[in-house]
Amino acid sequence: MTRIAIVTGAARGIGAATALRLARDGHAVAVLDLDEASCSDTVAAITQAGGRAMAVGANVADSGAVQAAVARVTEELGAPTILVNNAGIIRDNLLFKMTEDDWDSVLGVHLRGAFLMSRAVQQHQVEAGWGRIVNLSSTSALGNRGQANYAAAKAGMQGFTKTLAIELGRYGVTANAIAPGFIVTDMTRSTAERVGVPFDDFVAHSVADIPVARAGAPEDIANAAAFFCSEEAGFVSGQVLYVAGGPRA
Ligand code: NAP
Repeated sequence: MTRIAIVTGAARGIGAATALRLARDGHAVAVLDLDEASCSDTVAAITQAGGRAMAVGANVADSGAVQAAVARVTEELGAPTILVNNAGIIRDNLLFKMTEDDWDSVLGVHLRGAFLMSRAVQQHQVEAGWGRIVNLSSTSALGNRGQANYAAAKAGMQGFTKTLAIELGRYGVTANAIAPGFIVTDMTRSTAERVGVPFDDFVAHSVADIPVARAGAPEDIANAAAFFCSEEAGFVSGQVLYVAGGPRA
């Protein structure tokens, strides 16, 4: 069945791969990112493959922008019942060097963003009696040097997910989280740059600790998201799936 999906942070990386995958599964997809123009490649890839998509520019941490974005999607594509909270940023620093702005921006995009988007979309899911929410956590939720802000946000995503599962289950809505390990995207590229290591060396170093002996690709995460969004996953809710090429936690 065709549903209307919103994927945040879908201009590139994991979000773009997830938007493409959901479109391939037959859903109409709102490709949401900070800058509407940056969504055009993802939208073009979907439409060229015969799918339906629209670009939406919005800051997920801004309540007014979120409400306007969800209203626009509802008007132009239809009432959204699938939401993938993927938008994310990193502002890594050791605790003693971490600024309040580093803390607030990371918590703002990941946690406040997922809260605002989920609150806006649940209304349509409850009305439809069906919905899927997928939140992006991370293996960093278990602790990661230099990421006190990001680890707190990604651990917070897990508690947020479990609570949505409990509150919304009776309306046919499931909520699950994916905790990716090392995935090759602009985010991991910028981490390598920040620590001053050539990206290939950075990848090789990370892969040495991954049991399946390769780095993750955005499609690895998109595949997991597609499962959680499927009709068949209706009895799976409140779970955190580590997609990290090996066991975690
Ligand atoms: P990415 O390549 O940096 O893409 C993130 C996207 O989110 C960018 O297009 C970015 O837009 C957008 N975004 C940032 N702030 C936003 C906001 N306030 N409102 C709307 N969109 C916003 O990152 P990625 O690696 O694909 O990561 C996607 C998600 O997976 C994130 O939640 C990340 O924390 C999580 N994750 C990634 C990894 C990994 O190894 N890559 C591992 C674990 C978890 P701009 O380009 O305009 O900033």
